[in-house]
Amino acid sequence: MSAEDAGSPLAAWVRGEVEAGGWVRAGAATAERLRERHGAGAVADLSLGQPLEAPEAVRQAFQRAAAAVRPGRFGYMPNLGYPELRERIAEDVEVAGVTAQSVAVTVGAAGAISMALRAFVEAGSEVVVIAPYFSEFRLYSDVCGHRVRVAAAGPGGELDLEAVAAALSADTGALILNTPCNPSGHVTTEAELRDLGALLDAHRRGGGRRVLLVVDEVYRRLIYPPHRRAEPFHHYEHAVLCRSFSKDLGVAGERIGYLALHPSLAGAESEAGLALCQRALGYVNAPATPQLALLELPSWEADATPYRERRDLIADAVAAAGLEAPECQGGLYLWVRSPWVDTMAFVAALAERRAVVVPGVAFGVPDHFRICFSVERPALAIAAQALVETTSRER
Ligand code: PLP
Repeated sequence: MSAEDAGSPLAAWVRGEVEAGGWVRAGAATAERLRERHGAGAVADLSLGQPLEAPEAVRQAFQRAAAAVRPGRFGYMPNLGYPELRERIAEDVEVAGVTAQSVAVTVGAAGAISMALRAFVEAGSEVVVIAPYFSEFRLYSDVCGHRVRVAAAGPGGELDLEAVAAALSADTGALILNTPCNPSGHVTTEAELRDLGALLDAHRRGGGRRVLLVVDEVYRRLIYPPHRRAEPFHHYEHAVLCRSFSKDLGVAGERIGYLALHPSLAGAESEAGLALCQRALGYVNAPATPQLALLELPSWEADATPYRERRDLIADAVAAAGLEAPECQGGLYLWVRSPWVDTMAFVAALAERRAVVVPGVAFGVPDHFRICFSVERPALAIAAQALVETTSRER
């Protein structure tokens, strides 16, 4: 039935997506209801991947940026961002051959991924995602006229090359790799990148298309030792990095990130194409004040310690409840196997104990659930108690 027939003002695709999804936001709504009933301090909202509060230096940089006076401060700017910021970003990428011309300032990582898919992947192509996956990848792909194809990861979130190979087809135009992964917490290793690069090169030699590797690194500054980031550009040429400052600098609402192209993809033609996509997608340019704030900051390094401490607390709580979860190597989440066959019932039982998590169906793997540990410590204590009590309940 078309949306019009159903009496809805929404287009059919939008209506379908609204009805089908929104698990993370649904969790946030549940938490809101619980807060109204029990008070804010009594609820552990572990649903949305909200960063901790921005550090003082970042807040001050935004204040200085808001007060900055320069010609054209409030006018249009180049679509791909202030030139001096693009220079800084090229340095931040730290790969030989990446220059200001290879980067675009974007509306968060979401904007970077959308622009990459729009600019370099033909409509009608398939986009491979690795499950468990960040569900918005489907939305970004759909909007660009692509279809998502899912390849399952291994039990710890590691790449399963056979599954990826099986998901590749003559129609594959892109593969989105998210490292550290939301929700599994897996950090892709050097060996995984090498094998994936070799697989995609072999696919091309075997008559397949040149697959765009879209590397979503939104959590790259939140990697916990001994795990380390490996450089995708060293292993595959037809690749882009999509990054943002949403999480590590705690400025998700300011919508600022960037897209970096492998040198083999960069050049005047790509630059013109990306500028067009900024406009075509309706962003026009990334917002000015956050761009200026980034220029104000002497360093973009982030302190991962508060996140690592919370990761340890929740990992201990999950283990104490007798639950199984792979080590969170980076990011804000613990990915836990549901102890009950009915994950939705388990998630609902946790909510009865005022702990709100997201069921794995939101990430394409229904027998798990995701805990976001980027919350204040009392919330983690509520969650720990809810996990133990719910798990020990007869089922
Ligand atoms: N990619 C992943 C894996 C995410 O978890 C998120 C946000 O939660 C995004 C992309 C979007 O990031 P941004 O806020 O920078 O657009």
